[in-house]
Amino acid sequence: MATFDAVVLGAGPAGLGAGLALARAGARPLVVDPADEVGGLCVTRRRDGFAYDVGGHIPFVRDPARRAWLESLLGDELVWVGRPVSCVIDGAIRRGRYLDQRPGGGGDGRVWHGAAGEGTARGELAARFGGPFVDRVMRPYLEKVDGVPLERIPAERARRLLEDQAAPDGFVFPARGIGQLMDAMAGAAVAAGAEVRLGTRVTRIEVPDGALAAVALAGPRGEEVVEVRQAVVAMPAAAAARMLTPAPPGATTRGVRMRAVCIVYLALDRERLTDEPWIQVDHPAVPFARMFEPRNWSDALAPPGRTILGLECYCQAEAGDPVWSLGDTELGRLCAAALADPLGLLDDPAAARPVEVLRVARAYPMADAGQMAAVRAPAEWLADLNGVHLAPGAAVIEAVEGGERAAAAILAGIRGPEVPEDPATTLP
Ligand SMILES: Cc1cc2nc3c(=O)[nH]c(=O)nc-3n(C[C@H](O)[C@H](O)[C@H](O)COP(=O)(O)OP(=O)(O)OC[C@H]3O[C@@H](n4cnc5c(N)ncnc54)[C@H](O)[C@@H]3O)c2cc1C
Repeated sequence: MATFDAVVLGAGPAGLGAGLALARAGARPLVVDPADEVGGLCVTRRRDGFAYDVGGHIPFVRDPARRAWLESLLGDELVWVGRPVSCVIDGAIRRGRYLDQRPGGGGDGRVWHGAAGEGTARGELAARFGGPFVDRVMRPYLEKVDGVPLERIPAERARRLLEDQAAPDGFVFPARGIGQLMDAMAGAAVAAGAEVRLGTRVTRIEVPDGALAAVALAGPRGEEVVEVRQAVVAMPAAAAARMLTPAPPGATTRGVRMRAVCIVYLALDRERLTDEPWIQVDHPAVPFARMFEPRNWSDALAPPGRTILGLECYCQAEAGDPVWSLGDTELGRLCAAALADPLGLLDDPAAARPVEVLRVARAYPMADAGQMAAVRAPAEWLADLNGVHLAPGAAVIEAVEGGERAAAAILAGIRGPEVPEDPATTLP
């Protein structure tokens, strides 16, 4: 049986970031994922001549080293989308997100470093922009996406959205969708010596005496136990924690409420509907909170003369939820109707043809301060174990960087503390 320096659990951006960094540094990682393609949430689907992502995925790139890393993987296929996210205010499309708007001014997309608030998103934003402005302009959208009042959303979430997940001038993007970056990372990892096994899930993580000894896998080769001393957890921490053997004393990972998203894809027989890559919509009568138009991210994503829209409807995967409980046809019909009224972007809703509705039941933990301790607990148990490294990341590039940090910790254990010189594997 092949031996591995590390097993990477999950082949989303975090797992691929870890696998690529380990392999490029000369280690031999095994990356496993139950899906039949790499990328996790960052996959690009193809249908009817269109290519579209599972939700708009802007890579938030904050430094030249990361940009160079992307160029080294994608070459000319890395395109610049020279428009920021925009939002709808009083029926008009405005430059900048709701969070980029300013009291008395437009959205210039620059981060405003104001005073810190008192621990909630409402306090954080009110300290910077004033309470009345926050309640009128920022609250409706944030609550529509997160599903809880601003007073219950932790301040950290508002800070991260404001500062880390901003692309005020535009953003770089893989010409053929975010999945192209994932495929390039997986290809580079395999070329450097990693093994990537798809259709393979981790079923048990053996940690006798608080140290990793083995992981059990189930896949096309049947059941297999891989003896290994190092692992990167690049899958949901709660699911990984449930596989710990023995289980942490008194631990339970149930009960965290998750936010879901239904993404409705509608096609139109025209070159484009808008000039915007991404529009935020706070209107309560519009089922979607974000609308992305892949044509405006890259021409390679839509055939000439046709465009596709991705409409992200945030909800809870629960019976009785007003969005989740709708059938695909009805949800598509409501989204098309909203494009006409109240948004005024379309004259005839029937012109928008349903292509597909994708449902992500467990998109992210609900950003509710009351459950943050429960959300963090599984990661804390995992982080306590010798040889188990977490690859946290709430955004694509952040997840890649989380994977790279986990790889660096493993390499430090294998080789001593130095991090490799190769810029492709050096942490930015
Ligand atoms: C609608 C939507 C829009 C988004 N927009 C943006 C955006 O604009 N910009 C941005 O930066 N981020 C965005 N994100 C967030 C981004 O998708 C995530 O932060 C990122 O995918 C996290 O990467 P990850 O590798 O940690 O997890 P994931 O991508 O979730 O990958 C986890 C992997 O673990 C695997 N796995 C699960 N169980 C097992 C098991 N038992 N064994 C092995 N593997 C397992 C899964 O199959 C999956 O492939 C968006 C997310 C959504 C849902």
